[in-house]
Amino acid sequence: MAESTADSDVRTYQVRTYGCQMNVHDSERLTGLLEEAGYVPVAEGEQADVVVFNTCAVRENADNRLYGNLSHLVPVKAGHPGMQIAVGGCLAQKDQGEILAKAPWVDVVFGTHNIGSLPVLLERARIAQEAQVEIKESLEVFPSTLPTKRDSAYAAWVSVSVGCNNTCTFCIVPALRGKEKDRRPGDILGEIQALVDEGVLEITLLGQNVNAYGSEFGDREAFSKLLRACGEIEGLERVRFTSPHPRDFTDDVIAAMADTANVMPQLHMPLQSGSDSVLQRMRRSYRQDRYLGIIERVRAAMPEAAITTDIIVGFPGETDDDFDQTLHVVREARFAGAFTFQYSKRPGTPAATMPDQVSKQIVQERYERLVDVVNDIAWAENRRQEGRILEVLVAEGEGRKDDRTERISGRAPDNRLVHVAVDPSLGVPRPGDVVAAEVTYAAPHHLVADRVLAVRRTRAGDVSERARTPQPAGVMMGMPTLPA
Ligand code: SF4
Repeated sequence: MAESTADSDVRTYQVRTYGCQMNVHDSERLTGLLEEAGYVPVAEGEQADVVVFNTCAVRENADNRLYGNLSHLVPVKAGHPGMQIAVGGCLAQKDQGEILAKAPWVDVVFGTHNIGSLPVLLERARIAQEAQVEIKESLEVFPSTLPTKRDSAYAAWVSVSVGCNNTCTFCIVPALRGKEKDRRPGDILGEIQALVDEGVLEITLLGQNVNAYGSEFGDREAFSKLLRACGEIEGLERVRFTSPHPRDFTDDVIAAMADTANVMPQLHMPLQSGSDSVLQRMRRSYRQDRYLGIIERVRAAMPEAAITTDIIVGFPGETDDDFDQTLHVVREARFAGAFTFQYSKRPGTPAATMPDQVSKQIVQERYERLVDVVNDIAWAENRRQEGRILEVLVAEGEGRKDDRTERISGRAPDNRLVHVAVDPSLGVPRPGDVVAAEVTYAAPHHLVADRVLAVRRTRAGDVSERARTPQPAGVMMGMPTLPA
């Protein structure tokens, strides 16, 4: 962390991230790129020399939020000579030069296909004293070759593909992220091996439509093969993936999940709606029976799997009966949790101009009913965990304490959030360590495990401990010292 430039040539940066995991991972690359170019993260409470917005375009008010935040920076920039503002991500890819028209104090606009250009564009804008806009219509190099600064010492995102070949009528992603491009399996496995060598225990395979992986090079079973190959990597304890699409969720993937020990019993599978007629208008290319069939087969193969989903309420033309169909699927599927959204028009998507837009009042009423049903089931499913012994991977950040018990927090194999008591006789677990503990209480959205059985200190725990320990000047961080 550093003070601003006034007294040094080192320029500080701040990256503000909006939206999905894709953007979270892209921001890890943006910070990696900036640090490779000599920028340093700004200190808490300080004003950065460079502020980068990595934007999302999915929600209706995404634009308002960006331009609101940009206008707040006008007086800040006026008082901070040499300050630069850059806007990237999906909204930049969509609005392009329009961003400069609406916010002429912005210095750089870059798109989703050329995040690697940021440092050069910042330099060019600084030297030329002129704003730079660079948007590419398609991906040139797979961004995984770019330097990355990960947020976590023990967990990492690994992209398997970018873009999407689907055309869901409410979604703007294909227009902004382009057609699906797949990485070569060898590149992916090579990156995973390198991460494990650095102490990473858990990886999440990332793709807009992760289980369609391989469609670009014509191998329909490429994703299940990739999961099985992850099972061969020594030291890789947990494999997760997001987001799959029900249309491409085939039995070979379910078998690979069940057969491969380090693939976690957890599945996030967007439903969006339970009504066949709404799914048809969404152009989701599956129907209620197929979705429930997948859930059934996943449960048969992995009875303890935790399944979560995404649901949109109030899609144009949604009737009371359509909504009842969504509630029916939620009751049948017994989700461990759900991200629930009120439909909002996204200009540029087919759904935005569809007839029979549902009134806000009806959408709100249905949304509240849905959230109640989802929460009741999630809590009931959590209560089934009471008495189970879970292996919890300890996360960064504060645990949930109460007046009697100090706790740390982490994730169970099925990705449930668990607050685990600290038993000093077993040592205080560090982020990246693994704790075996018995679930003693289930809350609606988390578990409490106050009977600790064992604490396993891991290399990831060593790495995260070193990352948090201030190092004497000149010591290199992050690189684990290989055992002599
Ligand atoms: S699958 Fe549909 S919702 Fe998901 S990114 Fe592709 S078009 Fe959008």
